[in-house]
Amino acid sequence: MTSNTITDIETFRVPPRWVFVRVKTSDNIVGWGESTLEGHTEAIEGAFDDLRERFIGAVADNIQDIWQTAYMGRFYRGGPVLMSALSGLDIALWDIKGKKLGVPVWHLLGGKVRDRIKVYGWIGGDHPSAVVSAAVERKAQGFTAVKMNGTDAISWIDSPELLEATVERVKQVRSTGLDVGVDFHGRLHKGMAKQLAKLLEPLHPMFIEEPLLPTQPEEIADLSNAISTPIALGERLFTRWDFRPYLERRAIDIAQPDVSHCGGISELHRIASYTETYDVALAPHCPLGPIALAACMQVAISAPNFVIQEMSWKMHYNIAAGEALGIEADLHTYMVNPEVFAVKDGYIAALQGPGIGVEIDEDHVRKASEIYVKHAPWRNPLWRGEDGSLQECTAAHRSDTHNLVHINQFIS
Ligand SMILES: [Mg+2]
Repeated sequence: MTSNTITDIETFRVPPRWVFVRVKTSDNIVGWGESTLEGHTEAIEGAFDDLRERFIGAVADNIQDIWQTAYMGRFYRGGPVLMSALSGLDIALWDIKGKKLGVPVWHLLGGKVRDRIKVYGWIGGDHPSAVVSAAVERKAQGFTAVKMNGTDAISWIDSPELLEATVERVKQVRSTGLDVGVDFHGRLHKGMAKQLAKLLEPLHPMFIEEPLLPTQPEEIADLSNAISTPIALGERLFTRWDFRPYLERRAIDIAQPDVSHCGGISELHRIASYTETYDVALAPHCPLGPIALAACMQVAISAPNFVIQEMSWKMHYNIAAGEALGIEADLHTYMVNPEVFAVKDGYIAALQGPGIGVEIDEDHVRKASEIYVKHAPWRNPLWRGEDGSLQECTAAHRSDTHNLVHINQFIS
């Protein structure tokens, strides 16, 4: 038998809503990947039935060929489901390659260009009192930067008071001394988004994120010309081809590919280089688990245009999802070596272990997965406004606001 062939590909649903991937080779090397696609767990598992059929027996060293075959070889390509499944497989193959050679993945991407990675945490953002206490908590954890929601569900044209309330919340968080990114989540339409972007400009956010839906590159380019605040986007783009219209139209300043959706370490690395040619910075999106974060960091350590990394440590909706199941479900829960993610003065030191640099507690993953599969997989809530019409939803939690009256209901 050829050495280091893929002998086993397993997926695990684990709380809060993550999908971990375990790949084993004939040389007894185990690599871990993450294919989390929030709300679509069964679709990912279905895509893995196909990947298993195609790649058991393939040489694990040939990452590029496996990536190309997975991407091109079934005629249909791209999109959240196929790309998230491929992402998890790709991350696991890089983990295997690094472990086989005894080096961190960044070593194989050309070596490091920095010793530490700037990071930011999440503070929710819906309630004035909650954002300040969450900001203080993040500071105590060692963060110097955070991200918060701009608004909750909002109508196409809504009350200006909602926008003023957002400005007030951002002001309060800025007053704690933290840098702030404001995530619009594509919830606002153009008439409201351009107002909010202007109102936030004097507060100098690090960036505004998804100011409009990622179907609107032209309109985001118009917004970019109207404000000085950097515009970030990319968590719902899959492959470098999806980034192309945003770059060619000069629509964004910061690319936020998600390593578990965009095509894994291979594609994140390629997107980093591609965006650099447009003077666009890289800030990988990662509200997900430890494997995704470690994979992002491998690229961040080696990419010249990297600026800041999202991380989910103590993120409110992950903690809440775990509590609902009666088990812990945080960034460190499945790690043997959580100390590698220690945040100090706003930074995490470059990962040094072989592969992606995190050791996964396999027993814990298997036990948590056995509990989780007995429950319905996580779903995002549907949001309906006062008139019953559907509003832009989120891949996160929801909170009660003035204009949410129907949750998770069909119109009757
Ligand atoms: Mg976002």
